[in-house]
Amino acid sequence: MPSDMRIGLGTDLHRLVEGRSLWLGGVEIPSDKGADAHSDGDVVLHALTDALLGAAAISDIGELFPDTDPALAGIASATMISEALAQVHAAGWSVVNVDVVVELQSPKLRPHRDSIRARLAELIAVSADRVFVKAKTGEGLGAVGEGRAVSAQAVVLLEAVK
Ligand code: MG
Repeated sequence: MPSDMRIGLGTDLHRLVEGRSLWLGGVEIPSDKGADAHSDGDVVLHALTDALLGAAAISDIGELFPDTDPALAGIASATMISEALAQVHAAGWSVVNVDVVVELQSPKLRPHRDSIRARLAELIAVSADRVFVKAKTGEGLGAVGEGRAVSAQAVVLLEAVK
């Protein structure tokens, strides 16, 4: 009998502005611009949180952590993904693997790839060989290409715990 598996997809985008830190996958990336957000604006963690919640058909990040709730103002993205993961685990699922694409014109993310993979693996309690991260530029086109935005897409595969 085939094992029960579920796939989830999440995306996120934030405007890039000067004077903010750039956080991607729980790692601070040296950059002259960062995401404009009430939280740390970590598009990788936000996309992955949505992918986890969607794969388990539990909820989505906007419903679970509404930005209209003053109690949640400034909530860390690491806290959001930890709470989402706890709900996914409680529903009987474990994470098989995660794949992430970041769209960012600059800086280059390749030098930071392994540190982002390691931090993501830590946050979702899997080994780093189950996590991959790659980056694409916007080829100078559109909001990403013009350096006005950073975005991320994440897919996650869940397996039912026996
Ligand atoms: Mg976001």
